[in-house]
Amino acid sequence: MIKTDEEKASILILYTGGTIGMVQRPVTRTLAPVKFDQIKEEVPELNKFNYNIKTITFTPALDSSNVTPAVWVKIAKTIEKNYNQFDGFVVLHGTDTMAYTASALSYMFENLDKPIILTGSQLPIGTLRTDGKENLITSVEIAAAKENGKSLVPEVCVYFDFKLYRGNRTVKRDADQFSAFHSVNYPELAVAGVDIRFRKEFIHYPENKGILNVKTNFDDHVVILKIFPGINQKVFNSILCLPELKGIVLETFGAGNVPTTRWLINCVKKAIKNNIVILNVTQCQGGRVSMGQYETSLELLKAGVVSGKDLTTEAAITKLMFLLGQGLSSEQIKFYLNKNLRGEITE
Ligand code: ASP
Repeated sequence: MIKTDEEKASILILYTGGTIGMVQRPVTRTLAPVKFDQIKEEVPELNKFNYNIKTITFTPALDSSNVTPAVWVKIAKTIEKNYNQFDGFVVLHGTDTMAYTASALSYMFENLDKPIILTGSQLPIGTLRTDGKENLITSVEIAAAKENGKSLVPEVCVYFDFKLYRGNRTVKRDADQFSAFHSVNYPELAVAGVDIRFRKEFIHYPENKGILNVKTNFDDHVVILKIFPGINQKVFNSILCLPELKGIVLETFGAGNVPTTRWLINCVKKAIKNNIVILNVTQCQGGRVSMGQYETSLELLKAGVVSGKDLTTEAAITKLMFLLGQGLSSEQIKFYLNKNLRGEITE
């Protein structure tokens, strides 16, 4: 049954770890995650919402540097199990790899029609100047927001520092500032000020309501390889010839360019002949790969390298791992890499 906008929303908060729930260890003075069971005690403001809020804490709570595909799957399965009982989901997660998790989750959920909002903070929630409270409170509000009985943002998103982003378009851009994330190639989905302004023209609303389908297979036989001036032939070759390697995200210069030196193109050709999928993304913060625009990318195009267009590296590597995990042929993988699956790429 569809609830009216006024009925009490139910929100599930998953705490996976991250700075938001960290404390300083006494001797080393390093920040480490703690069991953050009492989210509602730490943030009594949550009780002021007229919502049913339930919390699930992952054990162990992780610094997101320790998040693996197994954790993506755990998050996805927990949401899937609780999907019908809740109107929206908030995932508290470390900021370091939040963009990877958000991207991975976006591919995993087919026919998503409820919000999954990832958030965290730069300062622990117990500290005076924490950004965690605002991030959490507004994420909960966004997860509950509806219009005509339907979620206002039925997407996997990242909410941080007053802005809501499509998750698979985000990049962590700053280790210190509260505005830790940006999304250069896609506009914000909402901006929180006195009101939360939803920018519906940029939000994806499913046209046909299909049945939720959660896919949980990832293949980790992949690598991200960043091109730099002076890259060594032997090192480059040995990476491309790694046994069991199935996919490479090649971070190239500008619009998808690499040195035209013969050995580099020959290595790339050899790898493609060995059925390795190579996806070209730019090292730039914004813009897109356009192979063939310069002489320095034409040979990649001819060799069969796939254009990552305006994918972020985070969205690219997780998409590659996801597609490789689906048991597709390399031709199908190349086809879908270029296709817009969840709003991650501008075709
Ligand atoms: N190292 C932390 C993490 O990613 C950083 C943070 O949460 O801001 O878990």
